[in-house]
Amino acid sequence: MTGERDEIAVVGAGLAGCLLACFLARRGYPVALYERRPDPRTGTVERGRSINLALSERGLDALRRIGLDGQVLADALPMRGRMIHPVAGEPQFQSYSASGDRAINSISRGALNNALLDAATALPGVRVAFDHRLVGLDPATGEMTFETPRGKVAATASVVLGADGAGSAVRGQLLAYGLLTESLDFLDYGYKELTIPPLGGDFALDPDALHIWPRGTSMMIALPNPDRSFTCTLFWPTHGTASFASLGSPAAIERHFAEHYPDLPPLAPNLVDDYQHNPVGVLGTVRCTPWQANGRVGLLGDAAHAIVPFYGQGANCAFEDVVELDRCLAECADDWSAALPLFQERRQANAEAIARMALANFVEMRDKVASPLFQAGRKVEHA
Ligand code: FAD
Repeated sequence: MTGERDEIAVVGAGLAGCLLACFLARRGYPVALYERRPDPRTGTVERGRSINLALSERGLDALRRIGLDGQVLADALPMRGRMIHPVAGEPQFQSYSASGDRAINSISRGALNNALLDAATALPGVRVAFDHRLVGLDPATGEMTFETPRGKVAATASVVLGADGAGSAVRGQLLAYGLLTESLDFLDYGYKELTIPPLGGDFALDPDALHIWPRGTSMMIALPNPDRSFTCTLFWPTHGTASFASLGSPAAIERHFAEHYPDLPPLAPNLVDDYQHNPVGVLGTVRCTPWQANGRVGLLGDAAHAIVPFYGQGANCAFEDVVELDRCLAECADDWSAALPLFQERRQANAEAIARMALANFVEMRDKVASPLFQAGRKVEHA
């Protein structure tokens, strides 16, 4: 590819896809971004799926490279440590750094996605096709089929990049063609969002911390939002006697939280309604190999390596992927058949390492952060 570059198809206008479109456009590529959903900037957020993210230096580094860090951080809330909520007694703060000045940033996933989408669409050469769900892909020719409100639509690109998340259809197509192997390891834990609204117009909890309620077999975390609410995420087994399914009535929900999370009910007036109506999300680790086929179809972000959220690094890693792929393209003089394998070579071991660390951190967060060792002041780096 020299002179006029061929159009690159990016499937999925989520966090990785939008950032990737920005980086590719900067390299001079025309980019077609295909997204199965309608434009999120005009729609409403799905109930219980607002999810705020902890954005750390890995992710910020990528945003800095396209000049978007300042804008994104303006809407972020720095969290300088963990606030551990015991069943009885006062919450205890554990700083993320000895100096107390290092922080991870709480940011709305939706707002971050919209900022990236705005940045991508502002660049010449990027076009976005919403309501386009990829349902077919020929990895040899780059021919794609999308389901749209107007019926099936066909398109072709010289390179197709799957940034379509943990349930990636691009990965599914490579699997169907026998071009990769995958393993999906689901936890028997799920997650549910609950909300702590502002109290008297202010934050109901300290907004400078990531709040954790470690309870051994279950765990809840809460991150602050710019509107002074907190989004809580409760992690609990999906089945069994102590699980999401075990609380069948408003009285049972109230009893459970009063016993295990006693400081929550006074701060969460919609607790029962949230609990009953917000969905339970699944949690799992996706591994696959190779991450590319024929030098013209590639995977990145959750599509290549979704991880459980306990290290707060899935989106940060997806952003790092984009930076690394851009670097590989530069080093390979934009020869995709060389850049895509090089990208996998450099990123796969890192992705595997964070996948394992994220699983290990679940044990630490739900259990060990409440141990005397941590309470004695041991400093920890991330979530
Ligand atoms: P996604 O964000 O899933 O985007 C994929 C996009 O592709 C979506 O827009 C989707 O609609 C689209 N799409 C899907 N299928 C198709 C198709 N067939 N055709 C066209 N488009 C399609 N990460 C962090 O860094 N920090 C955190 O604190 C953090 N907390 C988390 C908490 C929870 C509860 C969860 C579940 C995850 C958390 N993560 C966190 C992980 C983070 O959300 C993901 O790693 C990140 O969203 C991955 O980005 P992505 O662009 O690869 O995939």
